[in-house]
Amino acid sequence: MIVLLCILIEWFWRESTAKGYDLRGAGASILVGIGNAISGALGALVFGGVFALTSRLAPIHWPMRDWRVWLVGFVAVEFVYYVHHRASHHVRWMWATHAVHHTPEQMTFLSALRLGWTNVLSLGWLLYLPLILAGLPPFMVIALLAFDLHFQFFLHTEAVGRLGPLEWVFNTPAHHRVHHGSNAAYLDCNFGGVLIVFDRLFGTLRTEQPHEPLRYGLAHPLGTLHPLKLVFGEWHRLLKDLRAAPSWSKAIRIAVGRP
Ligand SMILES: [Zn+2]
Ligand SMILES: [Zn+2]
Repeated sequence: MIVLLCILIEWFWRESTAKGYDLRGAGASILVGIGNAISGALGALVFGGVFALTSRLAPIHWPMRDWRVWLVGFVAVEFVYYVHHRASHHVRWMWATHAVHHTPEQMTFLSALRLGWTNVLSLGWLLYLPLILAGLPPFMVIALLAFDLHFQFFLHTEAVGRLGPLEWVFNTPAHHRVHHGSNAAYLDCNFGGVLIVFDRLFGTLRTEQPHEPLRYGLAHPLGTLHPLKLVFGEWHRLLKDLRAAPSWSKAIRIAVGRP
């Protein structure tokens, strides 16, 4: 209900300003979002199963009832999410899935739904296995990740300005807008989920500069709003390059190299 209200208020707000509302882009985001929900449920069976099996190997199991375990788990999941998101921008095999989320050329709440369908294939979820081996319950890791994802819905808007001291610790719409900037000055920054502190720690935090207005979308746009082309566009580019590679070792270097 809150989500629907946010989308409607933002729509009216954008129409009442010069910004306008890209209805075709919004439709594409909804269709890609439905596919993401279905593929996400199937994917959760795969990585949920692997998490459960890995949990059996953990030498210690931290109790879910203890709020301190949730607190440590939250910070740990936020850290791994930061690494996962940063890797998704630096490794082509992972970018092929994540690029879908960077295709919207308008920053609206609905663009948050434009998420890839191939997370299982891109293997980023393997990065969370050390947390399971360290004894965090798989349910906790998945619940904290789900919270992180839902929180990020509210970051995708131009309707909210700077949020003062909240911006020191938390990821905010202003931080996340810069993450979606395709200008060279804004590429590869602000990878945090709920927290922005790891960007501060590892030097990847950037803020919007007055002389460099944000441009959203991919640096090399796919030029389509067809949901299937949005979802598989980067995979298509990657597979073309892999096929053209003269050797297996060169192909592997392309797959793990930078986008
Ligand atoms: Zn990203
Ligand atoms: Zn985003």
